[in-house]
Amino acid sequence: MNLTSFRRKVRSLDRLVRETRMFARAMKSPRHPILAHVIPIRRCNLSCAYCNEYDDFSKPVPTAEMLRRIDLLAALGTTVITISGGEPLLHPELDRIIRRIRSHGIIAGLISNGYLLTPERIKRLNRAGLDHLQISIDNVMPDEVSKKSLKVLDTKLRWLAAHAEFVVNINSVIGGSIRNPEDALAVARRAMQLGFTSTVGIIHDGAGQLQPLSEQQQKVYEEIMRLGKASFSSFAYYNQFQKNLVRGLPNDWSCRAGSRYLYICEDGLVHYCSQQRGFPGIPLEKYTREHLEREYHTVKPCAPYCTVSCVHQVAMIDRLREKPMEALARFFPSEPGPSCGMPAAVRVLSWLFLPPKPNSKRRIFTSAALRLLGIR
Ligand code: SF4
Ligand code: SF4
Repeated sequence: MNLTSFRRKVRSLDRLVRETRMFARAMKSPRHPILAHVIPIRRCNLSCAYCNEYDDFSKPVPTAEMLRRIDLLAALGTTVITISGGEPLLHPELDRIIRRIRSHGIIAGLISNGYLLTPERIKRLNRAGLDHLQISIDNVMPDEVSKKSLKVLDTKLRWLAAHAEFVVNINSVIGGSIRNPEDALAVARRAMQLGFTSTVGIIHDGAGQLQPLSEQQQKVYEEIMRLGKASFSSFAYYNQFQKNLVRGLPNDWSCRAGSRYLYICEDGLVHYCSQQRGFPGIPLEKYTREHLEREYHTVKPCAPYCTVSCVHQVAMIDRLREKPMEALARFFPSEPGPSCGMPAAVRVLSWLFLPPKPNSKRRIFTSAALRLLGIR
């Protein structure tokens, strides 16, 4: 085993412990933000035709101000912070922002188009303590819609496979103006070949709403789902929300944006999400536990056809906390076959949260395990 593989293993164990703690805290405490997205720069070095989240002129947010925002999110009890953009690698002091996130014990993520990665930049991200990186790849060959193509980014992916000590997820997209749905399958296969995780997103319109998928697009989506490993994250990603959306059906759920999920724009305002900017639009330093409480209960009319998957995943944790039996049955329905296709982590969750039969000895083990996780 070489040094990078050894360090990867050590860091992955450390991450597992911190992520288990994050999950346990989310199950125990109902109102702290589980996930926040922060924007250190709105500018992007690309200009994808479907994107409404970038400009070509903004300056980076001053580092001192970004560090202050991270401290404010930590004070609200945030457990995961993902840095997004624009293109966050354009921020000259991104590493300091990541270090500040980690100094609070918060899990640090980054969403990038990957263009600016070099072996040295990847090693700097390792040293800063990055936990997760997501790169979206839209097609195999660049076209007028998107330059985020496998052809251009494959070298970067090989550098990541060789040097990254953090988790790398490659996201491909389907729908909207993306020309060849089969490209998403080629991207997913390449990601798995290099040892990365892989997800596929459905392109939303300017309000985060669904663009129905054609029959061909649905077939490709299902094929990519079958490629995914049976991990909790892939299960959580390809949840019932996504399955309904692919078929053009609405979802019945409660969006907890503004409470369990926060989007902090470059001006330091709290918004529901990237697609619902302006609501509630309150400066982060004025955002209080009362706001978290109020927004937890606010009904968002955009929810039925919402495609913002990270907010779906956060909502799944709350559903699980409030109604464990119903949530497990709904999000992870049993399928025929010997193992019901259920990943081990979900089987453990079922074991922990589904009440045992009366007088069952499992009751003792269940309650000890929950205590160990700090849930009871
Ligand atoms: S790379 Fe990302 S932020 Fe930049 S234009 Fe494309 S989708 Fe938008
Ligand atoms: S339902 Fe929530 S996450 Fe989805 S678009 Fe509306 S506010 Fe954003």
